[in-house]
Amino acid sequence: MSRFFSEKYAELKPYVPGEQPQGRQFIKLNTNENAFPPHPAVTEAAAEAAKSLHLYSDPECRILREKLAERYSLTPEEFVIVNGSDEVLNFAFMAFCDRHIPVIFPDITYGFYPVFAKLNNIPYTEIPLQEDLTIRVRDYLQAAATIFIANPNAPTGIALKREQIEEILQANPYNVVVVDEAYVDFGAESCIPLVREYDNLLVTQTFSKARSLAGGRLGYGVGNPELIRDLETIRYSTNPYNLDSMTLAAGAACLDHDDYNRQNCRTIMRTRENARRELADLGFEVTDSKANFLFARHPGIGGEELYLRLKERGILIRHFSVERIKDYNRISVGTEEQMEALVAAIKEILNA
Ligand code: PMP
Repeated sequence: MSRFFSEKYAELKPYVPGEQPQGRQFIKLNTNENAFPPHPAVTEAAAEAAKSLHLYSDPECRILREKLAERYSLTPEEFVIVNGSDEVLNFAFMAFCDRHIPVIFPDITYGFYPVFAKLNNIPYTEIPLQEDLTIRVRDYLQAAATIFIANPNAPTGIALKREQIEEILQANPYNVVVVDEAYVDFGAESCIPLVREYDNLLVTQTFSKARSLAGGRLGYGVGNPELIRDLETIRYSTNPYNLDSMTLAAGAACLDHDDYNRQNCRTIMRTRENARRELADLGFEVTDSKANFLFARHPGIGGEELYLRLKERGILIRHFSVERIKDYNRISVGTEEQMEALVAAIKEILNA
């Protein structure tokens, strides 16, 4: 820390992203990227947009908002476009929480939530997941706080049903409920159909997972136009050009080829179920993940040891040192071949 760093950030512990190795070629199953590249039309659109990089991008992100509105049968006013859904999550902490409006979220969830809370000086409470790592809906009723729920949750992959989230929305008319749907397209139920009914609902989604655009950094928030205007106030007060022209063009082309994305999601879900079965046969306890990753532990080997021994063999998975889940690992679902290589390596490690 330099002697100039503001004391308001002295205690801030930044979020630690998964490793992005630049040298050795790993089988990368550690950051929940999509196993498949974007549709060729997406890269073509980005390349075309690059020819106009001397001009600013469209701060209103008009084309993309119109296409999203069409895709979800809503209006452009119900969408805010952001530089990865991390950005809209941060905006939601800034917009809907403060010293008097605290935040609650599960104890085991996306590790960025406590970082955003601390960054914005917002008091927060972590609500323990139940023994089986599921969210107890009852804990979120009449909360007197802004609520953040990742659905499916990360890193467990376990999803609540839409009607369970609706129960939380109904019981919290005075609080914003943020539903982080980064992984929703791999088998969970989206709450987007509820945004017209509940003015306290903000849904966040991303192009990083189901739409193969993690490196493009594109996400969005969906909600009542008033909520969206609040988020736009924050966006225009920080960086109105938060999206570059290439990413905006890539995102629009991506929506034109959403069938391709949906097909890839179906393939990933099939691969997930095959890998789940194989891991269970090897003695792993695997959660019922509705995301593009598995969350698993084995009675015969610690989470960190398995992570390290797979890394030696050129396979990266994600281990968290958090006490409650230190025996688990999160394994992104790659291609069938990558998952076969993973299972073969684990067999070797367990027999050694
Ligand atoms: N929510 C959850 C639960 C995530 O795991 C991630 C990915 N790290 C994000 C949001 C943010 O993803 P992105 O910023 O790439 O849209």
